[in-house]
Amino acid sequence: MTDGKQQLDKLIQGNERFASGTPTHPNSGFMRRRETALNGQFPIAATLACADSRVPIEMIFDQGIGDIFSVKTAGNIIDDVSLGSLELGVYKFEIPLLLVLGHTDCGAIKLAVDANRLSGKMSEIIHRILPVVEQVTSENPDIDKDELVNKVTEENVCSVIKEISEKSEIISERVELGTLIIKGGVLDLESGEVEWLD
Ligand SMILES: [Zn+2]
Repeated sequence: MTDGKQQLDKLIQGNERFASGTPTHPNSGFMRRRETALNGQFPIAATLACADSRVPIEMIFDQGIGDIFSVKTAGNIIDDVSLGSLELGVYKFEIPLLLVLGHTDCGAIKLAVDANRLSGKMSEIIHRILPVVEQVTSENPDIDKDELVNKVTEENVCSVIKEISEKSEIISERVELGTLIIKGGVLDLESGEVEWLD
């Protein structure tokens, strides 16, 4: 089993504890804080998740201080800065696992599905999700709105993973070498369970 798969197993097990209401809150005390401050960080995963306040990464995976190199953007979309942040984590800390996590009831996805016009820089977010909405709608012309939101949430994760691989040499090289795995998932806000995508 590669390192990335072992780390993925830790996230899977941590999420099972979170969803079943039996978290152990590891690595969150004084000793861990001191140890990571003095010896640095060795995160088990880099993550790109939605900025939504109901998506607290360390809690969802029952991890603690120094465990997750966490990047958050509305709609878990990628741009140069968020991609650069993920590269930094993967490159500097030799993180073997990269997770892109969407979630149910995502406000950014719903705004894009409704094709809402937004002012200021918020329009950037919708602009990046709209192609996924168009793709899903053209492939499933009779889809109802709830299903469309769910499908766009999943496809958005896949599209972001594809974009990361295409745009980042640092990341794609590591995937080819087998020192990094990229995984996608969708968090169900109600059950707390992550549905892992292939
Ligand atoms: Zn969201």
